[in-house]
Amino acid sequence: MDRHIVVIGAGYAGLAAATRAGRKQRVTLIAPEDRFLNRVRQHEVAAGHAEHRPTIAHVLRGRNVTHVQARATELDLAGRKVFTDGGRTPISYDTLVYALGSRTAFHSVPGAREHSYPMERAEELRDRLRRQDDAAVVVVGGGATGIELATELAEAYPERRVAIVDAGEVGGRYSAKGRALVHETLGRLGVEVHEHTEVTAVDDEGLTTASGRIEAGIVAWTASLEVGPLAAQSGLAVNEQGEALVDEYLRSVSHPDVYVVGDAAAVTLPGIGRLRKACATAQPMGWYVGRALARGGASKPYTYRYVVQCMSLGRNSGMVQVVGKDDAMTGRVFGGRTGRLIKAAIVRYVVLGLR
Ligand SMILES: Cc1cc2nc3c(=O)[nH]c(=O)nc-3n(C[C@H](O)[C@H](O)[C@H](O)COP(=O)(O)OP(=O)(O)OC[C@H]3O[C@@H](n4cnc5c(N)ncnc54)[C@H](O)[C@@H]3O)c2cc1C
Repeated sequence: MDRHIVVIGAGYAGLAAATRAGRKQRVTLIAPEDRFLNRVRQHEVAAGHAEHRPTIAHVLRGRNVTHVQARATELDLAGRKVFTDGGRTPISYDTLVYALGSRTAFHSVPGAREHSYPMERAEELRDRLRRQDDAAVVVVGGGATGIELATELAEAYPERRVAIVDAGEVGGRYSAKGRALVHETLGRLGVEVHEHTEVTAVDDEGLTTASGRIEAGIVAWTASLEVGPLAAQSGLAVNEQGEALVDEYLRSVSHPDVYVVGDAAAVTLPGIGRLRKACATAQPMGWYVGRALARGGASKPYTYRYVVQCMSLGRNSGMVQVVGKDDAMTGRVFGGRTGRLIKAAIVRYVVLGLR
C-alpha cells in the first residue's frame, strides 16, 4: 500500500528521518529553508568564518522525498492534514513526523529579545561585530553554546573586550577537569567571566544583573532552548514546556500516527533518563524513526546511550568530555588540538549522517 509520510522540519532529526524513510516510502518534507542550517556551527558564523551549508536538494538526492519549501502553520490531527503558509492547499498524510526543533528561550527577561542576538541571528551578530569593532561583547549563558561563542569571538577579535555571564558556573555541567580546561582557555583568551550573576534586564548598553551592571555595546544570548507552540496548539499531548510526550517508539502518546523526534520531543529512557536537547540526541531519533517507517513500522523500542560531550574552544582547541551512557561526567577529558580534531570530525560526521 502506498502510504504517504510527511516530515515537518529539516534539522538534524527531520532530515535524518526523511532520507531514511525515503529509501522505501513516499515522503514529503515541509520546511522553509533551502539549505540545511547546521546549528552547531552558528558560533563560527558569528565570528565571521565561512560555513558550508549543503542544499536540502543535495541532501535528499536519490531519495523519494519531495521538499515543500514552506512553514507548517496548523495541524489537523483528526483529518491528518498539515496547513502551511503561502496559501497552499493542506498536505494530507498517513504518518506525520514532527521535527520542528527548538529556539532560543529569553525567559521573559526584560529587553532580552529586543537587545540581544540569539544564535538564530548569528549572521546579524557577525555584521554588527564587523561594523562596531570597538564595542565590547557580552555572552549570556555559560553552557556549551555560550563558551563556544565567547572563545571563538575572543580569538577572532583579540583587541575587543569579551565577557561571559552565567547565573551558575560557566561550564558547570562538566567534570572538575573539564571545567578547569574551560576556565584555563577563557583566561588565556582574556575572556571576562561573571559567575553566579543573574541577568535581570538587557538594554542597548549592556546588562543589569542581580550583582550590578555589566556594560557592553553588544549582547549575545545563549541562555537555553525552548520549543515552539505548534504541538500544543494542535492538540498533541505535551508537557508543561510544550514538548510532545512520546511512547517508547517515539510516537505521540495522544496520536500514534504522529512520531515526534529531536528537540520537540520529551523523551525519557529507562536507565538513561530525560534526553537533553542536542544534535547528538536529535539525529539518532531521526534515523530510528526513518528506518522504522521505511520498514513499515517500529518493531523495537528506541534506545540511546551517551558517549561524549564536546565543544570547540576557538579555532585550534576543543574539549571532549567522556560521559557515561546516562550522560554522567567521567574524569576523562581530551583537550587542546586533540579535542578540537575530535569535535571537528563529529561535526563532519553529523552532516554526512543526514543521508
Ligand atoms: C549555537 C548552537 C550550538 C549548538 N551546539 C551543539 C553541539 O555542539 N552539540 C549538540 O549535540 N547540540 C548542539 N546544539 C543543539 C542542537 O543544535 C539542537 O539540539 C538541534 O538542532 C536539534 O535538532 P532538531 O532536528 O530537533 O531541530 P532543529 O535543528 O532546530 O531543526 C528544526 C527544523 O524545523 C524547521 N521549522 C521550524 N518551524 C517550522 C515550521 N513551523 N514549519 C516547518 N518547519 C519548521 C526549521 O526550519 C528546521 O529545519 C547547539 C545549538 C546551538 C543554537
